[in-house]
Amino acid sequence: MKKIWRSILMLMLLALGAHGGIKVASLHPLLSDMARSVGGDAVEVVDLFPKNGELHAFEPTASHIAAAAGAHLVLACGKGVEPYLEDLRDSLPASTKIVDLGATVPDVYIPGTAIADPHWWNSPSAMKRAARALRLELERAFPEGKGRFAEGHRTYTRQMDNLRRVALLAFVPFEQEDRVLVCSHAAMSHFCKEFGFTAIAVHGVAQESEGDTASLARILAQLRQQNVRCLFYGVNDSPKILQTIASQVGAVTKPLVLDGIYPASGSYREMFLFNVKSIQNGLMER
Ligand SMILES: [Zn+2]
Repeated sequence: MKKIWRSILMLMLLALGAHGGIKVASLHPLLSDMARSVGGDAVEVVDLFPKNGELHAFEPTASHIAAAAGAHLVLACGKGVEPYLEDLRDSLPASTKIVDLGATVPDVYIPGTAIADPHWWNSPSAMKRAARALRLELERAFPEGKGRFAEGHRTYTRQMDNLRRVALLAFVPFEQEDRVLVCSHAAMSHFCKEFGFTAIAVHGVAQESEGDTASLARILAQLRQQNVRCLFYGVNDSPKILQTIASQVGAVTKPLVLDGIYPASGSYREMFLFNVKSIQNGLMER
């Protein structure tokens, strides 16, 4: 424990001396991307989430805590994505503030349940709300960067508006009854609400929450009734059960980035366009 606190102290001293702006640590790659865009060169971003990590299984280790302790802000998705958040708060010095960006986004419930879908980053409008909250937090922590943050925020907002327009245009050819998104876990409720889709999930919030036989039978009946021709598996999920269901209803499977952990880069744009293209291709199977 002594060793951890020594590292924390060293990192705090380094943070104060090494950078002219502020240091921001992030618990999700898409929040890192947002912080880099809004903060520009006035912000040094530290990614706490490991490369190829699994969002619903990640827990910070002592080295993550040490890296976060050197930061002015720690960005979190909230909405239960980080069940360890309270413990992390207790482990950090008072000078490090945890910012729950998901708190600025209204809840969207998984259809047929009273469970709020925590995957809010799949909606560009939700990302805009979070970016506004981030800008205010950055201004509070580093008033000298106000102009830079305003400019970064404007650019980021424009980018989200453009991505939203690209998606709306891509889905124009598809009728309302064809807009059904069947995913390996319940991660697209925010997206579905924004783009007028119906969400059906084979599993709950994380893929570990196994569906029982009765709900599986119900899903199969629903897929047949709605003539669903494509099912979408999260790139970090095992596609096995989805493939079994797909073969039973004669559908194909296509990948989606559900948890925002896109292997090629941490950019929101790349992730979002990948999903739009995949959904577009999937819907054309009908
Ligand atoms: Zn997920």
